[in-house]
Amino acid sequence: MSTCRRLHVTVRTARGLFVSRRQTRLCGHLPSSQSLSTGTLLRNDFFKDLESQFSAMRKKASDALPGSSWSPLQINSNLPPERADIVIVGGGVVGWSIAYWLKQKERVRGGVKVLVVEKDLTYSQASTVLSAGGIRQQFSLPENIHLSLASADFMRNINEHLGVLNEDPVDLQFNHSGYLFLASEEVAHIMEENYSTQRNAGAKVSLLSPTQLKEKFPWMNTDGVVLASHGLENEGWFDPWTLLNAFRRKALSMGAIQCCGEVTDLKYRTSRILSADGDEMDLRRIGSVKVQMPNSLEYQPVECAIVVNAAGASSARLPEMLGIPLPVEPRKRYVYVVHCPDGPGLDTPFLVDYSGVYFRREGLGGNYIAGMSPEEGEEPDTSNLEVDHQFFEDKVWPRLASRVPAFEKLKVTSAWAGFYDYNTLDQNGIIGMHPLINNMYFATGFSGHGLQHSPAVGRAVAELILDGDFTTLNLSGLGFRRVLAQEPMLERNIV
Ligand SMILES: Cc1cc2nc3c(=O)[nH]c(=O)nc-3n(C[C@H](O)[C@H](O)[C@H](O)COP(=O)(O)OP(=O)(O)OC[C@H]3O[C@@H](n4cnc5c(N)ncnc54)[C@H](O)[C@@H]3O)c2cc1C
Repeated sequence: MSTCRRLHVTVRTARGLFVSRRQTRLCGHLPSSQSLSTGTLLRNDFFKDLESQFSAMRKKASDALPGSSWSPLQINSNLPPERADIVIVGGGVVGWSIAYWLKQKERVRGGVKVLVVEKDLTYSQASTVLSAGGIRQQFSLPENIHLSLASADFMRNINEHLGVLNEDPVDLQFNHSGYLFLASEEVAHIMEENYSTQRNAGAKVSLLSPTQLKEKFPWMNTDGVVLASHGLENEGWFDPWTLLNAFRRKALSMGAIQCCGEVTDLKYRTSRILSADGDEMDLRRIGSVKVQMPNSLEYQPVECAIVVNAAGASSARLPEMLGIPLPVEPRKRYVYVVHCPDGPGLDTPFLVDYSGVYFRREGLGGNYIAGMSPEEGEEPDTSNLEVDHQFFEDKVWPRLASRVPAFEKLKVTSAWAGFYDYNTLDQNGIIGMHPLINNMYFATGFSGHGLQHSPAVGRAVAELILDGDFTTLNLSGLGFRRVLAQEPMLERNIV
């Protein structure tokens, strides 16, 4: 085994304006300042700085490994490998689900080297952990219904899939209270059509008249409600963090590799191709990704055959590096935690009102979470995750209180905001390979439903990569064709 290791350092010039890179090969021993000084840009104080950083690292390594002499291989044990077959950018629930399924499907144990790169292991801004945790079959597109059915089945048997020997079983804290959609006169016909699509796809949903609704949920004011649909099976909510960690734990146990770093650049080659219409187009092929280490000047290029874009709300940045646009952007959504001692009880479903407001129970003891999407054109600023409390006062609370009179007396106890990975074309997932990027697969743009679909989406992406096509669920409708043709596949009654 070679004892050589490349160290990549970002260097500031004297004026501190321009950032350049330098690559050094370390063999056996640390290089002296002299052996590094091949460039002319570097100033002497840089070497002093570098040498003192090396000393600190040497000390850290010897402290960590008492009794063993320092070796350059331990410069930064967190660096990713220099090569991987598949690099997944983004270690949210979608990224880790894909990693799990790739390892699950590989034909030879250890045959596929899968690296998951996540820039923030605290997940402070990841949509997964900031979501409402809901799963429903009540969609209008068969693709989404089937994704939900398959994912619910996976979650029901989660320990068969994600259980790890000698580790605690996974407990998703799944609450089976279902979703309850309310329809006004205006949209009742859509609800009826959706209902038959859902039933045809195998979902267990029932329609309720306002009288039946009032009998079942006496705490509700049914004014304005003409029809309701209630999920009877496979619907409710669960703990997103547990699902993410379960995928991660299992994938790691199967040999996937994780690295904390940010993919900040892609190296690629371009070749000219002719489209079916005879137009010349550039086809990109990625050769390596640049992984920048956190709080450090170090980075590591990772050569790879395939890149998977599971970077959630910021996934457009990766194709942008190749000059390719992606209609996915962050859109801020607020979740308010409220307390109401006299609010609806244990059988409370995840209620979605036709006014756009939703709420569900959050544990026991009169706690709930609630929210709604803003009007198009009133989208909040996405430069931070601050919560707009006035939005609750003006928009959310009046609608909540009009549907559930007990909510007149609620108190907001806390709130948070998260980013939807919002697909501006049609608010649905984009799954598959871009026709102009030869080796980047996408799994993004799920808007408000990426968490619940992650188990089936991970399997679908692994099929595309390892089998060359979808083999269980045909999700070709969610591919790039509609994006390039600008033919939205819209959900009706979306939340
Ligand atoms: C308020 C709210 C409520 C929601 N409610 C629901 C719900 O009830 N049900 C549901 O199914 N869905 C819901 N969603 C949507 C759901 O959360 C997302 O669709 C889903 O979590 C997307 O998962 P992901 O793994 O793609 O994204 P994320 O969880 O955001 O993970 C992407 C990861 O990529 C990392 N990353 C990005 N760029 C890079 C890079 N260049 N290098 C390295 N790492 C990078 C990020 O740090 C992040 O951790 C909700 C979302 C929000 C905001």
